[in-house]
Amino acid sequence: MAIKDPIQLGIVVPCYNEEEVLFETTDRLSKVLNRMIETGEIKSGHIYYVNDGSKDQTWPLIAQLHQQNQYVCGVNLAGNVGHQNALMAGLQIASEVEDAVISIDADLQDDVEVIPEMVHKYYEGCEIVYGVRKERKTDTFFKRNTALLFYKLMKSLGVKSVYNHADYRLMSRRAIHHLMKYRERNLFLRGIVPLIGYQTTSVYYDRDKRFAGESKYPLKKMLNFAIDGVTSFSIKPVRLLFLLGIIFILISFGILIYVLVSYFTHNVVSGWSSLILSIWFVGGCILVGLGVVGEYIGKIYIEVKDRPRYNIEKILQR
Ligand code: UDP
Ligand code: MG
Repeated sequence: MAIKDPIQLGIVVPCYNEEEVLFETTDRLSKVLNRMIETGEIKSGHIYYVNDGSKDQTWPLIAQLHQQNQYVCGVNLAGNVGHQNALMAGLQIASEVEDAVISIDADLQDDVEVIPEMVHKYYEGCEIVYGVRKERKTDTFFKRNTALLFYKLMKSLGVKSVYNHADYRLMSRRAIHHLMKYRERNLFLRGIVPLIGYQTTSVYYDRDKRFAGESKYPLKKMLNFAIDGVTSFSIKPVRLLFLLGIIFILISFGILIYVLVSYFTHNVVSGWSSLILSIWFVGGCILVGLGVVGEYIGKIYIEVKDRPRYNIEKILQR
């Protein structure tokens, strides 16, 4: 298919301690770009590696690849700001020159062979194209099920997000520019992108195992990410708390009646067990409530400071 006005395509890859995968990743992505340039599907292509404060040889490797490979650009962040913020840095820089930008993880667990398909959807007029996993065979039992639980929870809390879609997606320049207007620091891109609202579609692929290195998302980071996802988008936990309070007050009316009745009918020295039980129960609920409220106050605290998302140390442009 001949395309009249082929686009410039950027691929943003956040990297945290990814020295083991960079060569292979560059190789695979360059092949795809090569092919697409040859067939005239794109005018040019660039790979933007965003080094997210890695402690290993990731940045020197990116600099080396920048010398060797015509597609590779590099962005070195001055410190580790996390996957989502690193992604934002890359998207912002890439969208200054590219017509459309695809974000993908460095480990290429997401199939690069659907990149041409994403670009075709762009030509058909879609400005946001989600990469969606067909199955999660290759993920561990644990990861698969915690992820499923998380999607269900998000849905029940009313957060729009695409099931089985991570951060593998194509966005048009316009969509990215709009994304940049979301000034929040507690970034959960999967929840924000559906709010942008341009024409949207999905492409499907099988997700692979990481071909080298370890996951940079251990359980602790995963949990933090999930908590961020919920509390950045939904105030339902607070409402639930309110509801719980109402229920407690209703119950206490019931108890009041019970106390009055027992006062007039018999001696009220006994009752230690029910007392101690309710002290613990109510105390626990208060603590849970404080935790939830604290989570939101923590968010306000972070947003109010309005700190910059990242700091770019150096850019290797083409
Ligand atoms: N990553 C990052 N900063 C971090 C943690 C991760 O830029 O603090 C990058 C990492 O290099 C990779 C992507 O985020 O490109 C996803 O990480 P990973 O593949 O380890 O996550 P998983 O697939 O296990 O969820
Ligand atoms: Mg991965």
